[in-house]
Amino acid sequence: MTNQKKEFDIVVIGGGPGGYPAAIRAAQNGKSVALIEANQMGGTCLNRGCIPSKTLIASADVLHKIQESEEFGIVVGKVEFNYGKMVDRKDDVVSKIRKSLEGLIAANKITIFRGFGKLTSPHTIKILGEDNVEITADKIIIATGSEPRNIGAFPFDYKKIHSSTSLLEMRELPKKLAIIGGGVIGCEFASLYAILGVEVTIIEMMPRIIPMEAEEVSDALAKAFTKKKIAIETNAAVEKIDTSGKGVVVELSGGKKIKADVALVAVGRKLNTTDIGLEKAGIAVLDSGIIPVNEKMETSTPGIYAIGDIASKLWLAHVATHQGLVAANNATGHSARMDYEAVPSVIFTVPEIASVGMSLEQALKKGFKATSGSFPFQALGKSQAEIETDGFAQIIVDKGTGQVLGAQVVGHNASALIAEMAIVIANELTVECITETIHAHPTIAEAWMEAAFIGEESPLHWPPKKTK
Ligand SMILES: Cc1cc2nc3c(=O)[nH]c(=O)nc-3n(C[C@H](O)[C@H](O)[C@H](O)COP(=O)(O)OP(=O)(O)OC[C@H]3O[C@@H](n4cnc5c(N)ncnc54)[C@H](O)[C@@H]3O)c2cc1C
Repeated sequence: MTNQKKEFDIVVIGGGPGGYPAAIRAAQNGKSVALIEANQMGGTCLNRGCIPSKTLIASADVLHKIQESEEFGIVVGKVEFNYGKMVDRKDDVVSKIRKSLEGLIAANKITIFRGFGKLTSPHTIKILGEDNVEITADKIIIATGSEPRNIGAFPFDYKKIHSSTSLLEMRELPKKLAIIGGGVIGCEFASLYAILGVEVTIIEMMPRIIPMEAEEVSDALAKAFTKKKIAIETNAAVEKIDTSGKGVVVELSGGKKIKADVALVAVGRKLNTTDIGLEKAGIAVLDSGIIPVNEKMETSTPGIYAIGDIASKLWLAHVATHQGLVAANNATGHSARMDYEAVPSVIFTVPEIASVGMSLEQALKKGFKATSGSFPFQALGKSQAEIETDGFAQIIVDKGTGQVLGAQVVGHNASALIAEMAIVIANELTVECITETIHAHPTIAEAWMEAAFIGEESPLHWPPKKTK
């Protein structure tokens, strides 16, 4: 056992990107804090999600650039890669970050308990595992996260039918991959594997891939994927995955069959809210597994908070972290509230996609007299210089007040570009704030300024609207 102490001001269950920042903030606020983790510190994000997937994507990006090097006047010989080494690098990055995270937690004098935490009352938690003890807490923060969702009709066998976790662990690439689910995870894997030369088919039930994004964004990604020979089946329900032969045969409801070596099932997530003793603490939970919380992240039981995937409509690491800080502040007597108006989200495909705030469609639906200003990277000097001309930056503006309501970007480095718009939207800035801000030249961030000029109907590097 890490420590004999059994009574704490704050106990956090789950050490993912929700739980460990909550523990750190609570400790910084002067409280005695325990953090219980059943598996590896860092949760899904560090060990099975954001970081391993983005490390492999970074390797694929280098390969992609090398494959296009001739356009830059660079002649390279035959380009080869070793996927096993890419996987080793991914594991290395993850374990280095995990080690420094554990150091950070220790530096904040947080007591770590290893094992599965289960509530036994509103103030007690039994830990089952390496540390087998019952501890007490004044306040509790639950951050138990989620797992890949197993679909009854075609359950994971981790050999031919994979979850995102088991696919990330594979050391050899399949020749053909069928991806069930065209959401964020499905599309990121499709982009990654296609760059690595795998023949990919995405199967999506909805009429378009990444259906939660604005239509023009989803269309742009579908177009880029088609150009890269990624096959997309939309409005397609999977009835069965036949694994009896050499590979898999994915059978769709219309009778179509898609053959591949392996399938990735990336359809939703299962929330870790069963078996954690919620009933013993009187905490309400929905059938979906979501724990309802108020804007302080407090559950139906006062003094018990829930954060991250289990308490969110947005399954994102940075949302979990922000919720963790809000919960920790409230639990330690510092008032804070969670606001979802300016949550950036990024899809790490090629091209990257990022958005924050409302799409035009959403703004109009909410009753705003909204308009959009969209600027293509094709028209930007820096994008030409880098041969990264695909995509556009778009802002959604309220015509009456000039307030920026949303922003979407499809293109190279969208993940970094969205930060500027997150600040704009979080601070309710106007389109004028963007046009009055001097943007360095030549940079791809100029696309925001140009889109803002278009939103103001005074385009700069874009032809004016035709007058009759
Ligand atoms: C392939 C993939 C890629 C992703 N990429 C991104 C991305 O690029 N950007 C992004 O923002 N998000 C991404 N996500 C989503 C992100 O990983 C999650 O939203 C985030 O990890 C949720 O954080 P959390 O703290 O709620 O839960 P988790 O990260 O799931 O952590 C929960 C922790 O609690 C532990 N635990 C569970 N039950 C107990 C218990 N009873 N006792 C003790 N410990 C327990 C678990 O072992 C786990 O360590 C990705 C997810 C996947 C699967």
